[in-house]
Amino acid sequence: MSTYDVVVIGGGPGGYNAAIKAGQLGLKVACVEGRETLGGTCLNVGCMPSKALLHASELYEAATGGEFATLGIEVKPRLDLAQMMKQKADSVAGLTKGIEFLFRKHKAEWIKGWGRIDGPGRVVVTAADGSQQVLEAKDIVIATGSEPTPLPGVEIDNRRILDSTGALSLEEVPKHLVVIGAGVIGLELGSVWRRLGAEVTVVEFLDRICPGLDGETAKTLQRSLGKQGMKFKLGAKVTGAVASAKGVTLSLEPVAGGAAETLEADYVLVAIGRRPYTQGLGLETVGLRTDKRGMLDNQKHQSGVPGVWVIGDVTSGPMLAHKAEDEAIACIERIAGKAAEVNYGLIPSVIYTRPEVASVGKSEEQLKEEGRAYKVGKFPFTANSRAKINHETEGFVKVIADERTDEVLGVHLIGPSVSEMIGEYCVAMEFSASAEDIALTCHPHPTRSEALRQAAMDVHGEAMQM
Ligand SMILES: Cc1cc2nc3c(=O)[nH]c(=O)nc-3n(C[C@H](O)[C@H](O)[C@H](O)COP(=O)(O)OP(=O)(O)OC[C@H]3O[C@@H](n4cnc5c(N)ncnc54)[C@H](O)[C@@H]3O)c2cc1C
Repeated sequence: MSTYDVVVIGGGPGGYNAAIKAGQLGLKVACVEGRETLGGTCLNVGCMPSKALLHASELYEAATGGEFATLGIEVKPRLDLAQMMKQKADSVAGLTKGIEFLFRKHKAEWIKGWGRIDGPGRVVVTAADGSQQVLEAKDIVIATGSEPTPLPGVEIDNRRILDSTGALSLEEVPKHLVVIGAGVIGLELGSVWRRLGAEVTVVEFLDRICPGLDGETAKTLQRSLGKQGMKFKLGAKVTGAVASAKGVTLSLEPVAGGAAETLEADYVLVAIGRRPYTQGLGLETVGLRTDKRGMLDNQKHQSGVPGVWVIGDVTSGPMLAHKAEDEAIACIERIAGKAAEVNYGLIPSVIYTRPEVASVGKSEEQLKEEGRAYKVGKFPFTANSRAKINHETEGFVKVIADERTDEVLGVHLIGPSVSEMIGEYCVAMEFSASAEDIALTCHPHPTRSEALRQAAMDVHGEAMQM
């Protein structure tokens, strides 16, 4: 039996960051991961492979769709899908090895196998060959993540009916891909395959895309994806699917009532969300229970049971890698007796479509609901010199500030490279900046970030470049 200060179950962004942080703080730590590689959903079948394909497919479309020609670059592109998938796999392999390196550097031990809690302070790990070992720990951190939510009547076989993992490694470009669910994952993976030549139809139960996202920004994104050729069927419920060797027949009916219809596709991607993963974890041995959605509750990362902590997708909050990472740091610092907090109001979210969407803080809809008075400043990328020179003028920056104090309450960006720009507002808002603070801050020219400043100026009706 091996004894540790902390045993972390799960080696994703929650688990691996917890293990690294614990090592850094001088705690004896082991991280139990059953996959063959560290990095969890994010590195293996989530954030990173999807971004690899988004990047490659964006360049492919720039080459085939006339954008290169506009810039005076004549090329005759040919899709080599096998190579595109290989470079994705190579990058992922490099990243997962990188976590192994960080574990060695910070003295975090990777125990390969599936962990099961076996009473207070005990974790039994079963390796791939069936052998078992027992770990003892003062504190156990559950970071077992999430899995795709299944849709009744549409059984995922990862041949014709895919989950996100299947859609990240197709061996051919679909003729017609139907994506069920107009959330982040559906829109990103739908974009990949549309750019590579598929006809893509997105079916969504709600009457809008990206629930939770600022309404105006979501509408702009839908319009833009529509112009690119993505089709949307909103307010439509998928009631069943029949898969054959060649394709899938989907049955739909309007949510508001009306005639049912069928859709033929050669592939279907089910992307209706993710659910917490706690299978075989032995929760009952310490008296822990999940809620109706399968989620473990937490109070400042502590489960209801002393010495058992929960972080990442398996617990409440947005299912995002950087949220899992933030919780990992705070959780381990608390275990080490330090004060630490996660500011849940300032977790940014990004959609890596083209244009990209990035937001942090409150939406107008939320503020209206709260009855809080606010002002809005907006600046379009059509008026930003860098965006103009690069022919990437779609989208805008929208800054929402408190009407009385001018404190920035929310920022919603849609446009080129906004995923790299939102961090500025995260920092500013963490310091409770006012719109005026941003408006008075010098930004480099020519950059898209100047739009961030101009929108802040516009909160006071003082934007200078539109
Ligand atoms: C296609 C896709 C794209 C995404 N893109 C983004 C993005 O761009 N940005 C972003 O922030 N988020 C993105 N996400 C979400 C992100 O991947 C998750 O929020 C993040 O991985 C959650 O981290 P986690 O550590 O909580 O769980 P996970 O990453 O799910 O890791 C949990 C790990 O625990 C292991 N495990 C489970 N049970 C056990 C057990 N009993 N014993 C041992 N090991 C166990 C699993 O094998 C897994 O490796 C994406 C997700 C998907 C599917």
